[in-house]
Amino acid sequence: MTDTLDPRSWLYPTPRGLYCKPGDFYIDPAVAVPRAVITHGHGDHARPGHRAALATPETLAIMRTRFEDMPDTSQQPLKYGESVRIGDVDVELAPAGHILGSAQAVLAYKSQRIVVSGDFKRRPDPTCPPFEPIPCDVFITEATFALPVFHHPSDMGEIGKLLRSVATFPERTHLVGVYALGKCQRVIKLLRAAGWDKRIWLHGSLMALCKLYQEQGVDLGDIAHVSDAILENFRGAIVLCPPSAIADRWSRRFADPVTAFASGWMRVRARARQRAVELPLIISDHADWDELTATAAEIAPGELWITHGREEALARWAHLHDIPARALALVGYEDEGDD
Ligand SMILES: [Zn+2]
Ligand SMILES: [Zn+2]
Repeated sequence: MTDTLDPRSWLYPTPRGLYCKPGDFYIDPAVAVPRAVITHGHGDHARPGHRAALATPETLAIMRTRFEDMPDTSQQPLKYGESVRIGDVDVELAPAGHILGSAQAVLAYKSQRIVVSGDFKRRPDPTCPPFEPIPCDVFITEATFALPVFHHPSDMGEIGKLLRSVATFPERTHLVGVYALGKCQRVIKLLRAAGWDKRIWLHGSLMALCKLYQEQGVDLGDIAHVSDAILENFRGAIVLCPPSAIADRWSRRFADPVTAFASGWMRVRARARQRAVELPLIISDHADWDELTATAAEIAPGELWITHGREEALARWAHLHDIPARALALVGYEDEGDD
């Protein structure tokens, strides 16, 4: 007879999402629930309609922008590093390095600590603080790019490809597909870091979140809505748009556009072809294989639980490194960001 607490007894998957029993809350639930802890603002993690939602102030601001102010949700902001007690559980949010406001949920109950990473990456991102490794009994990792074939190249190298193409085709418009939340603002910051200080044009659907990033102190430089252009022929210009707009009627206004798409999935040539992308840019807000395995090795948790992605390869890696692992069958999560 042992009195060791089984972590599965207090945090487990349910059809509504990952449920923390002694705190009576869900983490990133797939449906509206009485009490939710939200790791970040992407649509497959942050959904509308919860009676109460706890998240970083930045994530709550993102949710208000997307969900018409959420008047029916009681909003509980929790800054990185602050702690709050919910039921019998101490909850803390730690930076995940994924997008503005993104957090790992750190749950402490009795003598145990479980860290739910949400989505994360390890390389520097000028739009959010870096991922913080936290010692724990159970680390719940994402696995979007959990195959050894996924190695993300340097993001500045990818931005260099875009700028070389702009220099090579000065008469053409460069149309870059980006996800509206996170990728868009990171690509803008990378362009600024690479020395592109000209106006960057945006599709209308990208404006609201860029404005929010600016209000949150992320300087994006000179950006403008494509529809506000007067006497602008967009030759030599860089225009950002949602990936779906690349092949849309909307794109016909531009001068012989070069189509690009910034995504970790651009490593897969078939996906680039599918989207009719001429210039694939491998820029991801998710950890690649090396980052996933290095993170698990660094944290060295008692157990590794793996969610939404390619669980098998990472589970096999963990077994080879003497870290007990299990795949959490959670439904409702998408590949990357949202479109
Ligand atoms: Zn996700
Ligand atoms: Zn995400």
